Formats: sequence, structure tokens, C-alpha cells
Amino acid sequence: MSFENLNLHPLILKAVHEAGYSTPTPIQEQAIPELISGTDIIASAQTGTGKTAAFMLPALHHLTAPSKTNGRGPRILVLTPTRELADQVSDAAKKYGKYTPRTKVISILGGMPYPLQNKLLSQPVDILVATPGRLIDHIQRGRVDFSRLQTLILDEADRMLDMGFLPDIKQIASCLPQGRQTVLFSATLDPAIEKVAAQLLNTPKRIQIADRQTKLDHIEQRLHYVDDLTHKNKLLNHVLRDAGLKQAIVFTATKRNADLIADNLYADGHTAAALHGDMNQRERNRTLTKLRKGDLRILVATDVAARGIDISDITHVINFDLPKFAEDYVHRIGRTGRAGATGIAVSFASSKDSIHLKRIERYTGHSIASHIIPGLEPRSKVSRHNDGNKKNSAPGHRKGKQLFNAPDKRRNINPHFARRPSKTARSAATGTI
Ligand code: AMP
Repeated sequence: MSFENLNLHPLILKAVHEAGYSTPTPIQEQAIPELISGTDIIASAQTGTGKTAAFMLPALHHLTAPSKTNGRGPRILVLTPTRELADQVSDAAKKYGKYTPRTKVISILGGMPYPLQNKLLSQPVDILVATPGRLIDHIQRGRVDFSRLQTLILDEADRMLDMGFLPDIKQIASCLPQGRQTVLFSATLDPAIEKVAAQLLNTPKRIQIADRQTKLDHIEQRLHYVDDLTHKNKLLNHVLRDAGLKQAIVFTATKRNADLIADNLYADGHTAAALHGDMNQRERNRTLTKLRKGDLRILVATDVAARGIDISDITHVINFDLPKFAEDYVHRIGRTGRAGATGIAVSFASSKDSIHLKRIERYTGHSIASHIIPGLEPRSKVSRHNDGNKKNSAPGHRKGKQLFNAPDKRRNINPHFARRPSKTARSAATGTI
């Protein structure tokens, strides 16, 4: 099938071809005709499947016809769990809608100044991309006119539910016209999602795309057993010296650890910076722009970066700490292997992580082969049913330098985290966070 068969407006097709897409992905093939015809859909499609275009192209197609209702408010509303994902959706809307009329896109996101948002909402808008909490604030102040709204899109609905946004989503939906189209995309379709769909969607069509195994085929997953923090740091150091590594995201369990590791990598001569929810939007955007431009080689992040970052040069994802939820593992490693590339996902696991590891393997249906780096073998032998035990003797390995140096020994201060209190560094040095 080609995009031409999908009956999209020619000016949208022009933008799609310019984006370099020759054939629709399975989710696009199935969702676009349904959405053009006005049907509600509930779709399970994970990040990396082309799901953003699957809902955005038909939304733009609807905008090519003038609104039947007078007004200046949005005709399309996309709700996303995170600011990063919202930015990705807005960028996609602008990219695919560059040739079509009536495609003014605005973002209303938490952490951004209110005055600017008030101004944006007072002007005519076609597509509004928002995180639920901040949008509620504006709705309560009477600043959003939903009289023209045609389509509500819930992107990564499972994540929004995990983050406790359900009451906000319901409240927002209650302010929208009854006859609207509602579209729900979720990585998984569990009972909680089905319940939301039953409440907000009107006889939806179900679309389920490729299982998780298929989706991860292009990502080589590796596991390293670790004894302790020192061992982890040495392994991290080793992985980061892989000559094939263009850009990497290192995921940590805590914001403080993200700062500390970024800080120490920077001190160690890497172009590295942290990204987490304690940073304001401007700092987050600045860091992501640097990553996109290739000015940063390593991003150290919490799960805030697990979704919505779409950079083809990210060759490696490193789970410094394993995620608690198996879904997050899939989202994290999906940051590599983008746009047809292959990727490497490296995870560190201690004996304490065995339950999380099992959950991840059950969820993905894939047993992660463990690797041993000569000279960095784990002291404790962890027995596992189906270890690959592949030896990895990357050239040029020397004994790793510990990354958690005491702050006074650092050669440099990372400008991305100049304000970090030294107390934090001390606790990290002793491995207490
Ligand atoms: P998403 O699942 O929306 O995060 O999209 C994943 C990536 O696939 C993005 O880099 C898109 O630009 C890209 N993409 C979307 N649709 C297509 C397509 N039909 N052909 C090739 N790449 C695509």
C-alpha cells in the first residue's frame, strides 16, 4: 500500500513525501482510513510504530475543510503525558501540516509561563497540544473555547493514567462537544484503558499493532550483572568508550542520580548533560536541542525522557538503573533504533533486580542475553536459566575510572548542574542514593 491509497489531501501527501516516507506503517495503514471517515478508534501502538503520523495526518486532513462552527478555539486537541511528547507531537503537526491551510499549532504545557499561554489561547488556533494539568488550569479560568472542537486525541493514554491524569482527562472531555471524534492511543490495552475508552469513546474500532517482540527486533539487548555502584560505573565507562557509540541516553532511577552521573561524565571529558522533571522547561528544551544538534553525546535522564525523544543518532540506551515497570523498559530502549536504524540497549542488573528483570523479559517475550566484559566480571555469579554469556572484548579497554568522584576532586564543573549541593555528591559517592 502507498500513501496515495489513503485518500489524504494532496498537500498533506506532499509533506509526507518530503519527510521521506514512502509507505505507510501498519498502524497508519489501519488507522488513517478509519479516522478520515470520522470513526472513534482505540489503538495499541507503541512508540516507534509511526503512531504520531497515524493520528496527525487524518487530523490535518479534517482541517483542510473549513470549520462548520464559528469561533477561534482549537479544532483538534491532543493530550499527552509529558512535555517532551507534546513537543514531538507539535513538531509532527507542523511538519505534516506545512503546506495545508488552517494548521496553527500551539502547545500548552506545565512549567511554561502563564502570560505567554494566555496570549496564545486568545488568538485563533487549530491544533492544541497540551498536558492535562495545565490545560485544566486554563479551562477553569475560562480561557479555552472548545466550541469548534472536532477531534480529541489521547496519546499514550496508559502513561497518562499511570501519572494520575484520569480525573483531568475526564474533566477536559466533559467540556468538549458531544459529537466529537475521540481517538485513544496506548502502548497497552489493559482493563483500565478499556474502561476509559468505554466512558469517552463512541463505539470505537479497535486496532492492535505488532507485538512487542517484533518491534524490538532491531535493537540488540544486552545485560550486564553488576556487584555494586563502583562496578556499574566501571561498566558505564566501558560502554561509553564503544567506538560505535554516536549518542547515548543513560537512564537512572532518580533525578539526583541523573544529575550526578551527568556531572561526573562531564568532569570526565564527555559532552554530557542531565534531563529530568526538576529542570524547568527552558533548561529541558535547551538540553534536548543540544542533543538533537549533536552537541551532546550523552544524555543522562530519568523516565521523563523515556518517550518522545526521536533522534536517529542515538545508537545506545543504557539502563544504569533498571526501570520498575516493564512498559518503561520498552519505551526507554525505543529511543534507539529510530527511523530504520539498529540500536543497542545495555542494562545493568544486580541480584536485587531479578524480579524487575523477569517482569521485563515476560513483557517483551525476550530473554536478555548477559554479557561479560573481561576484567569487569561480576564477583557474584548470578545463575539464570538462559544466559547467553557472550564475551564482549571491546578493544581499547582499560581499567574504568570511577565516575562518582568526590566533588573537590573534579576537574570541571558541569554548567548543566552548577547548583547541585555537594551533600548530594557525597551521598552519591558512598552509593546512598
Ligand atoms: P512515532 O511512533 O510516531 O514516534 O514515530 C517513529 C518514527 O517513525 C518517527 O521518526 C517518524 O518520523 C517515523 N515515521 C513515521 N511514519 C513513517 C513512515 N511511514 N515511514 C518512515 N518513517 C516514518
